[in-house]
Amino acid sequence: MKKKYFLPVAMLAVFETIAITLWLTKDNLFYLFNFSYIGLSIALGIFLFIQNYRHARRVTQLLVGLYMLVYLGLICGENMQIEGFWYYLFTGVFEAATIHYAVAKIFGPLLFGRGWCGYACWTAMILDLLPYKTPERERRPIGWLRYITFAASLVFVSALFLAHVENMERIMFWAFLVGNLLYYAVGIGLAFLFKDNRAFCKYICPITVFLKPMSYFSLLRVTCDESKCVSCGKCKQICPMDVDVTDNSRKRKNGTECILCHECVKHCPKNAL
Ligand code: SF4
Ligand code: SF4
Ligand code: SF4
Repeated sequence: MKKKYFLPVAMLAVFETIAITLWLTKDNLFYLFNFSYIGLSIALGIFLFIQNYRHARRVTQLLVGLYMLVYLGLICGENMQIEGFWYYLFTGVFEAATIHYAVAKIFGPLLFGRGWCGYACWTAMILDLLPYKTPERERRPIGWLRYITFAASLVFVSALFLAHVENMERIMFWAFLVGNLLYYAVGIGLAFLFKDNRAFCKYICPITVFLKPMSYFSLLRVTCDESKCVSCGKCKQICPMDVDVTDNSRKRKNGTECILCHECVKHCPKNAL
């Protein structure tokens, strides 16, 4: 097997390991299907990227995003939003949203950074269709808003538990529907206001409270070969997340925002990334 195919095969192996482990430990065939499908979708995207197919990332984003939003969310009624995570956490079951968060958003980012944000998120799946793929304005110092949305989700679910409301599952389903509509409305509004498709990700998304610190340690990251770099600045211009990718340190500017989209790699004229 050629060396260049190591990454898609390795990603498939990681997800198959998770799929088989959860299938056997939880005695539930769903996990085998679920994580095999996600692993295959990710491996296909990386494979297409290696083949220089320009829409490779979008293929994975649509395969995983639509599966999670339409099949898991709307058809199966699983709330995979952050409210669903709190809900399952408080009920003490390691199921659905808690597993999803552990793999994609809490421990997974130690390995693949914010790959979730680049290749799988169903919110970004829509936001990435908007016209401002490269931000047209400077980043605003309002990232603290994410802590408010994070706290609001926690308070909302805690209040439901404290009030001992009935039909929690039903409420979670409706919270998923309304929450997603709100995310899309706010995300699209902010994209046009700030002329930046990813404004919602940068300022509002509560999940980044988990994603940013964990992805700081990510094993997978884009690095720069300084001997090839001619400091032309193209990578910073094209980056949707304003990452200073020419700085190899983990403390690089906006380093925990990198969604591994590889736009910088594609546009570097010197193949320095
Ligand atoms: S920051 Fe939030 S909305 Fe944006 S891609 Fe990541 S998880 Fe999705
Ligand atoms: S695009 Fe390439 S050559 Fe230009 S600054 Fe970035 S890494 Fe250096
Ligand atoms: S353009 Fe490069 S640095 Fe910016 S988010 Fe994509 S992979 Fe990361």
